[in-house]
Amino acid sequence: MTGKHFIEDFRVPPGQRVRLTNFDPAFKGKHSKTHALRKTQELCVTMGELQQNFFAERKRSLLVCLQALDAGGKDGVVKHVIGSMNPDGCDVANFKEPTPEELAHDFLWRVEAKTPKRGEIAIFNRSHYEDVLVVRVHNLVPKEVWSKRYDQINDFERRLAANGTHILKFFLHISKEAQLKRFEQRLDDPAKRWKISESDYTEREYWDDYVQAYEDALANCNTEDAPWFVIPADHKWFRDLAISEIIVAALQSMNIQVPKPTVNIEDIRRKYHSAAKEGKQGRRKRRARS
Ligand code: AMP
Ligand code: MG
Repeated sequence: MTGKHFIEDFRVPPGQRVRLTNFDPAFKGKHSKTHALRKTQELCVTMGELQQNFFAERKRSLLVCLQALDAGGKDGVVKHVIGSMNPDGCDVANFKEPTPEELAHDFLWRVEAKTPKRGEIAIFNRSHYEDVLVVRVHNLVPKEVWSKRYDQINDFERRLAANGTHILKFFLHISKEAQLKRFEQRLDDPAKRWKISESDYTEREYWDDYVQAYEDALANCNTEDAPWFVIPADHKWFRDLAISEIIVAALQSMNIQVPKPTVNIEDIRRKYHSAAKEGKQGRRKRRARS
């Protein structure tokens, strides 16, 4: 199975209305957990190698947006998939409730500041999409404001793409039951209790509103330059397999070119290394004679 497989299977068809009920959050195909974990590990090694070349090439950048409802697995993807890359060329940005400073600017200001430099990969843990999701669900701005943001997002992403930023957007799709189970696991695990907030539970009352808001974001902002993928995320191991395959396939499709050396390698070898080698051998011979 190749990366192409998932990149096609989970890509939201462009120009279409999206119905999330048509996407099974528990999908795992014919994959077994054991095989998937091993395959993900292999893909993560490949991803690390590709990222090294991408960093060396310094021609383009990659932006990965992670969106999900609470407990959807964004942090898990950052840890298990993104963690395989060299932090030197990777930047994870978390977008929480905007600060007064951020609110005093337009909604794209804070995201713009975190877009990746050439050669780098930026991961958005939540993103500018919150401004048409939570903001819409809770009426934080009037409809006439948020409804114009889809076009503004498309313009923003088009501009990034035109300037060499490759964009992948993942919606981690979990079921309402799986979410409740994960909250319960957090209650049971002392190491994870800090993550729980009461709003996690109260937000569940808005589930259908979030689904509606996601369906509109997925349909209105799904371009060739910045595609959406709906990732079945009830099984964490399947989610990680799918995302790592898609990132690897995307990097492979970029035909990354490691830059040619700027010096003549043979000259450098002759000039600095053969002399050092001779010196070492000479010292060894002198030591043996004495
Ligand atoms: P978490 O990612 O679980 O730490 O939570 C971050 C919180 O910030 C979530 O409840 C988001 O809905 C909220 N948030 C992120 N971006 C925005 C935004 N633009 N406006 C309002 N709330 C936001
Ligand atoms: Mg949370």
